[in-house]
Amino acid sequence: MNTKKFCLTERQMPTQWYNIVADMPHRPLPPLHPATRQPVTREQMTAIFAEELIDQEMSVERFIDIPEEVQEIYRIWRPTPLVRATGLEKALGTPARIYFKNESVSPAGSHKPNTAVPQAYYNYKQGIRRLTTETGAGQWGSAIAFAGRHFGLDVEVYMVKVSYEQKPYRRLMMQTWGAQCFPSPSSRTASGRAALKRDPDCPGSLGLAISEAVEMALQHPEDTRYCLGSVLNHVLLHQTVIGEEAVVQMEMADAEPDVVIGCFGGGSNFAGLSFPFLRKKLVEGKQMRVVAVEPASCPKLTRGTFQYDFGDVAGFTPLIPMYTLGHDFQPSEIHAGGLRYHGAGAIVSQLLKDSLVEACAIPQTETLAAGILFAKAEGIIPAPESTHAIAAACREALRAKEEGCAKTILFNLSGNGVIDLYAYEQYLAGALKDYTPGDDEIRRTVDMLDRIL
Ligand SMILES: *Cc1c(COP(=O)(O)O)cnc(C)c1O
Repeated sequence: MNTKKFCLTERQMPTQWYNIVADMPHRPLPPLHPATRQPVTREQMTAIFAEELIDQEMSVERFIDIPEEVQEIYRIWRPTPLVRATGLEKALGTPARIYFKNESVSPAGSHKPNTAVPQAYYNYKQGIRRLTTETGAGQWGSAIAFAGRHFGLDVEVYMVKVSYEQKPYRRLMMQTWGAQCFPSPSSRTASGRAALKRDPDCPGSLGLAISEAVEMALQHPEDTRYCLGSVLNHVLLHQTVIGEEAVVQMEMADAEPDVVIGCFGGGSNFAGLSFPFLRKKLVEGKQMRVVAVEPASCPKLTRGTFQYDFGDVAGFTPLIPMYTLGHDFQPSEIHAGGLRYHGAGAIVSQLLKDSLVEACAIPQTETLAAGILFAKAEGIIPAPESTHAIAAACREALRAKEEGCAKTILFNLSGNGVIDLYAYEQYLAGALKDYTPGDDEIRRTVDMLDRIL
């Protein structure tokens, strides 16, 4: 009998996160202050983020302890299972072995609580009483609402108004966990009021929601900080708990991945699974491919430029060295809302530049088809974001079939899609469309960037 699931006991849960910066041949360039163009200082960041998170952001230590209080909350859903996708293998008729790490089992339904919990904890430990953040589709907002609850923090989420109205379920999750969720623009902040004055029916944007959340933190330095769900080094660090578990589970399965795959928005679930495997490549010289999968409609890794750009669309954050389409790039309205981001984190960008990881872009009709195949074969309905990783795994498995080689594929199932069924409805109705931006469209927003590099 083939073992289907490889499960760790709670005692086997990792007690440290892995900081890949310690092992990179070229470390990422420093983030720059937007006005001075000098590397940002710790002091400049303390008004926005908790101090321990800033230390982690800048750390070059190889391993960082996971606080006991964080481990305790992780145990609500961790360790997560590693699953052999035998059903999918059969459906594809492939000689390849396919495994996935199931991060969809968290209370919020995605990998995001892996960083929301430590972010809430470090803020709480510093005496912060309120967290602010923005959310587009609501995945990050619900994760931080869940995490803040455990430390008695007030959580304020600014949710882009169109999503607030069109997608009530994640808002209701946030409210169930006790967070306040405001449609952005709101009348709570100066940036929100200004937008409402210009246009009372303003549908909102992620940039505006960020402005509101950051403004709240800056106005209440005594008890409020802002937090972010992807892109930054400390976020990627926290997510490595995924890969640390998976390394042990692959050993239990007596398997070594030839290719490790993750879908790519800002880089956190991709990094979380792949960095502990990349350590084997960097330190032990193990051969393997590591593939980030982005939507064809938002192709920063495969068609973007390596340049300093803002981490956010509003231009508030420091300038980060990254592969980017330019922060003014308007990704089309694909269903994988979590992948509609113009850039990539600094660490992943440097790894891509150094050819230590690779990237591919897939259109959403192919990814949703793979998602439906997976749901039928494995039972779990994947998040539209995660279907990108599944589609890439299917491409690899079919290539293995053509070449008649039995390779081992590992991908991250970053979340489930039970509150994103609209994407499936559209696909099943044949109404889903693909969009690939033209070269001129990408050049336009890339050319708007200041050339710092
Ligand atoms: C937010 C999200 C993503 C994209 O973010 P990354 O930081 O790139 O991981 C992917 N999958 C799911 C389910 C998400 O919620």
